[in-house]
Amino acid sequence: MPEAFGVVKNAARRLKDRQHSFTVCDQPMKWDMVHFDVQLLGGVVLHRGRIAEMATGEGKTLVATLPLYLNALTGRGAHLVTVNDYLARRDAEWMGQLYDFLGLTVGCIEHDQEPNVRREQYAMDITYGTNSEFGFDYLRDNGMATTREQQVQRGYHYAIVDEVDSILIDEARTPLIISGPATVSTHQYDKWKPLLEQLVRKQNMLCNRLASEAIEKFEEGDVETGGRLMFKVKLGQPRNKQLLRMMEDPEKRRAIDKAELSFYQDTRKEELFALKEELFFTIDEKSNESDLSEQGRAFLNPDDPNAFVLPDLINEFTEIDLNPDLSDDEKERAKTERQQHCDAQAERIHNISQLLRAYCLFEKDVQYVIEENKVVIVDEFTGRKMPGRRWSDGLHQAVEAKEGVQIDRETQTLATITIQNYFRLYQKLAGMTGTAETEAAEFHDIYKLDVNIIPTNRPVARKDSNDRIYKTRREKYNAVINEIRDCHIKEQPVLVGTVSVEASELLSRMLKREKIPHNVLNAKFHMQEAEIVARAGQPGTVTISTNMAGRGTDIKLGDRVAARGGLYVIGTERHEARRIDRQLRGRCARQGDPGSSRFYVSFEDDLMRNFGAADRMTRIMERFGLEEGQELEHRWLNKSVETAQKRVEQRNYLIRKRTLDFDDVMNNQREVVYTYRNETIDSEEPRTLIYEVIDEAVPAKVKEYIADDEPNYAGLIHWVNTTFPLGLTKEKAQFETRSVDENTQFLIEKIKDAYERKSSHEEPTAVKSLERYIILNAIDRLWQEHLYAMDSLREGVYLRGYAQKDPLIEYKTEAYDMFVELMANIKNEVLNNLFRSTSNLQAFENFLATLPQFLLREHAPTAPTANAPARARQPQPVGAMAGIAADGDGAADITLDLPVRRSLPKVGRNEPCPCGSGKKYKNCCGRVA
Ligand code: ADP
Ligand code: MG
Repeated sequence: MPEAFGVVKNAARRLKDRQHSFTVCDQPMKWDMVHFDVQLLGGVVLHRGRIAEMATGEGKTLVATLPLYLNALTGRGAHLVTVNDYLARRDAEWMGQLYDFLGLTVGCIEHDQEPNVRREQYAMDITYGTNSEFGFDYLRDNGMATTREQQVQRGYHYAIVDEVDSILIDEARTPLIISGPATVSTHQYDKWKPLLEQLVRKQNMLCNRLASEAIEKFEEGDVETGGRLMFKVKLGQPRNKQLLRMMEDPEKRRAIDKAELSFYQDTRKEELFALKEELFFTIDEKSNESDLSEQGRAFLNPDDPNAFVLPDLINEFTEIDLNPDLSDDEKERAKTERQQHCDAQAERIHNISQLLRAYCLFEKDVQYVIEENKVVIVDEFTGRKMPGRRWSDGLHQAVEAKEGVQIDRETQTLATITIQNYFRLYQKLAGMTGTAETEAAEFHDIYKLDVNIIPTNRPVARKDSNDRIYKTRREKYNAVINEIRDCHIKEQPVLVGTVSVEASELLSRMLKREKIPHNVLNAKFHMQEAEIVARAGQPGTVTISTNMAGRGTDIKLGDRVAARGGLYVIGTERHEARRIDRQLRGRCARQGDPGSSRFYVSFEDDLMRNFGAADRMTRIMERFGLEEGQELEHRWLNKSVETAQKRVEQRNYLIRKRTLDFDDVMNNQREVVYTYRNETIDSEEPRTLIYEVIDEAVPAKVKEYIADDEPNYAGLIHWVNTTFPLGLTKEKAQFETRSVDENTQFLIEKIKDAYERKSSHEEPTAVKSLERYIILNAIDRLWQEHLYAMDSLREGVYLRGYAQKDPLIEYKTEAYDMFVELMANIKNEVLNNLFRSTSNLQAFENFLATLPQFLLREHAPTAPTANAPARARQPQPVGAMAGIAADGDGAADITLDLPVRRSLPKVGRNEPCPCGSGKKYKNCCGRVA
């Protein structure tokens, strides 16, 4: 290591000596850096697979060159993971100067690259890219590519994650998902939108009226009635403005909470129900659920109030079955008709409830923004846009309908991995950031990463002042604006941090009114982000930013700014995590510069309202007797805020840990499936894999039919003849005369023999790719269904927590059973497709010609509609066996049936179960067994 690091540092010195100039992202630059001692230290920590905590502006980009060089010497590839595409390209081009000088190659993965370009980038010694590009490439390589040539990555040797907290903690909350359009999409969001808008308006009016009544009651001193009325508002319109305001008043809040608590007692269930019926619908913010009341249903469809209730399908079916006047055919038809009716109802209920959520719980510019006529999700934590990601289960479409933009098709999960599990693939992982210390326990537990704090190159001269605490948001913001104005006048640059896009825009409006020029940096301006940040240190500049964590660009001070005190950082709200606050503070006073920071807090802030800090503060405030516009400032008030933050951090950690515990189950399964997939892709002799399937799946089937006391020989013959073209008869099979094992051997030999005959007519390389294709196709299709089933299981299993069972244990057991079934199904599917696929039509016809004549019916085989040359390269299974009938044991005229997929009514998973149990479908009949 010392030698390698020495080489890198020396290279940097030479580049500096020769005043090496170059361009980075179209900006001309000169090389002016030689590693500082603390940077060498940082490099040591990274090389050892740990996290280096180094403050903003300490030059982490340069630090990474040391271990990247050393680890890339192995030739197995070293990766550097950044938070966005821009930084990946900037750092690759910038540090590329050094690598180039050292004789190493460097690549960069970008969003719109073609697979062959990506493969070239991965083939370089060092590769830069964002976490989602790396993760998605992994999913595509292992879950979708069908040949080695289509895969782009080449292993997971060493990775350094820049802004590691941002990536491994904040982003880790949403897994990476590759989804494709769902096969069916029959929404009616457009159709329901106008009526629903009216309904929501009616409800809002009702809630406003209730709130006004409540205010009167509160004024009359009837706190109980007031609380009850407001609880009703909370049920009907959780984001009601007056409600939010009242929740900030300790006395009213207590009254509302009390009303809520009392209604949830068992004895008052009916009263609660009656209360809900006085509204048009109820909506629950926490569980994200909505319900129409009788009134609401009548409003949406006055002619048929039952239009939004699921029919009692099970009863209807029983009635049909028991009806002596109907023939079997008529019964079937009647059932199909009822089934379709039920499907339509379920779809309608689902659409309405998603629209209600879209209107009542999702706000534009908070949870999402509209961009290029699309609904783009905004990450609540970082304020960053997440283009390409969609809410599931039709919610995204409902929001699209609400906003009047184009409604895209619903999607279905094709492949998914959590970021945690992607990074665990690496043999050695390291990370760097300005803020890791507060999350050290999590890094250790989940990633086995320890944190080392590296001292700064120069002493830190930043002054962190105590928080200023106000009664209301309004007073707080006014104070912030005054402070900004003062700084602006004396030309001190200010960086203002907010926790939401909404707050940024509010401040921006206030500043406009004051005619103070400023830049806003938030989800909407992702593109100019780095540029705005870089300019934020110029005299008199005001920059507003939602969440500075992981922005990756440091702020250099302009001329004369140091004399004015350097950059001043104002936080307008304490974030849920102390780490994010530290990130914001860390933006000033880089490399020994002067700088200062202060947070402004109000009792109305979410953190204060939700995590107990407010109660204690209110008491203090009452004692000090705080006047309008007055502020509090004391060291131990900061402590109170921090205690609340620690509580939230702990809670969020447990949530992430839980997500991971659940994903670990999936991860083991994913590994097995992906390994099998890759083995198939890499196999030179895929026939051995096919034969392994036969050797495993046939004995299981034989056992199923004939291993117990009452062997079902006819059933076995039926199965054989519907799966393989063996034309087995009772006489030919002679199953009774042999043992189970002997019968198994007998069948295996016959099947293999038939298979050899079939493939002998085809071109050997084409047969190989066909064989691979048959296995891959079975894996992919069933794995996707399995992913879907696992999702349902996961949702369902939580409800069992109430029954004193640990959901995780339940999940593990059931997931295991489902996985065993999945693997068996994959094998059966391979068997099913063995003889239904061909690499070329001519060969298939030749094969058919050799089959025993009695196997072919007169009008047999309807030729597959394949055009042979195209198929030869990309073989597809074809349903050509459909015409082949077997003349089995009393089972003449059996044709090869494709399995019937759907036997249960299609009911939305969140809808009430059609069996009438009152439970949700997914937790009742629709529960994944
Ligand atoms: P960080 O990622 O740690 O916040 P950066 O890697 O973005 O910091 O670097 C911050 C600035 O410090 C860059 O403009 C870079 O040019 C400068 N810098 C880093 N290391 C050195 C060095 N050894 N000598 C001179 N300037 C340096
Ligand atoms: Mg950086």
